[in-house]
Amino acid sequence: MSLANGRHYLAIPGPSVMPDRVLQAMHQPAPNIYTGALVEMVATLIPDLKAIAGTRHRAAIYIANGHGIWEAAIANTLKRGDKALVLATGRFGIGWGEMATAMGIETHVLDFGLHSTLDLTQVAAALRADKTHEIKAVTTVHVDTSTSFRNDIKALRETIDAVGHPALLMVDCIASLGCEEFQMDAWGVDVMIAASQKGLMTPPGIGFVFYNDKAEKARETLGQISKYWDWTVRGNPQEFYEYFCGTAPTHHLFALREALNMLVHEEGLDSAYRRHKILANAVWAALDAWGQEGSIRMNVTDAALRSHAVTSVKIDAPLGTTLRDYLTKNLGVTLGIGLGMAPGGSPEWHGYFRIGHMGHVNAHMVLGTLACIDAGLKALKIPHGNGALEAATRVISEA
Ligand SMILES: *Cc1c(COP(=O)(O)O)cnc(C)c1O
Repeated sequence: MSLANGRHYLAIPGPSVMPDRVLQAMHQPAPNIYTGALVEMVATLIPDLKAIAGTRHRAAIYIANGHGIWEAAIANTLKRGDKALVLATGRFGIGWGEMATAMGIETHVLDFGLHSTLDLTQVAAALRADKTHEIKAVTTVHVDTSTSFRNDIKALRETIDAVGHPALLMVDCIASLGCEEFQMDAWGVDVMIAASQKGLMTPPGIGFVFYNDKAEKARETLGQISKYWDWTVRGNPQEFYEYFCGTAPTHHLFALREALNMLVHEEGLDSAYRRHKILANAVWAALDAWGQEGSIRMNVTDAALRSHAVTSVKIDAPLGTTLRDYLTKNLGVTLGIGLGMAPGGSPEWHGYFRIGHMGHVNAHMVLGTLACIDAGLKALKIPHGNGALEAATRVISEA
């Protein structure tokens, strides 16, 4: 019996749930893009974005998804033939490196696989071996959305400094920004990138590059770069159209303003980080309980290395797909697919799912999702341990 009618809930790790207030903020006629309210409003976005990033340096906004922002960051820092050290703890770390390779960057990839965080000893060795400092940038992800590892960026910077290597540190925070603390300046990050559709609760389509003085200097040595991607004017616009190198993404900006009102000015960042942490703990408590019997396992064993925004789960194939399909068809909840965990089209591909718990999520949404997974496991007779909902509600009630 399908019980899916009612508001469908998308529990995938992006696009995340768009708050009604954000959707309503977009429902207005086209604004004047030359003068007036829109122009004034966009100036107010920058300080809020910088507050979330933990930077006093510059921010550039692009009309692009995360892949576009990957390219924007590379375009402003590296030129054809430059070397970059790519640190990967999942599909997204690899993806950024592939983007750089396609732009003519010589990438050296340290792939730590799908079951490990960064190994800083290996990073130090790779940088130490680069005696002539040919590596111009180190790229990595804060949270890799495929594996749900959260990497220690502060420790990575300390490693780079300990070796005395001058490479730029460039970090992808697309999955984590707004969900967990990030301190770009304090942690010594030179370039940080984010996008609208995850913790920032805004439709996909705009993204951000934050960059410090050292990154700006690197940009200056490049010579000619694509005018559209160049952050020089976007990050310091004299005219309104220069923010976007053309027409502003008007309605995305209305949406973002409302999302930032909610996140920065109403809830406050510290509260939002705490909310994500508690909800993540509820998800993990349920998964721990289910995992007492049967094949359900969180991909990240050590809770201290887990993202607070997304949890990646392994289950015997094909039960990941069976469970996801059941929940969508019968219970009105869609879980995330496993991404980059097994080759597409292989039988193993069906042995994963992910739970997104990023952005506009509260206790009832998370507990509802967990209860539906529990019902799905029972309905499908998938072996699992008991007490998951007890464990999850205990986390919530004790918070
Ligand atoms: C979602 C995501 C991306 C890719 O973003 P798209 O908008 O799909 O291009 C890149 N990196 C991370 C960490 C992500 O979570």
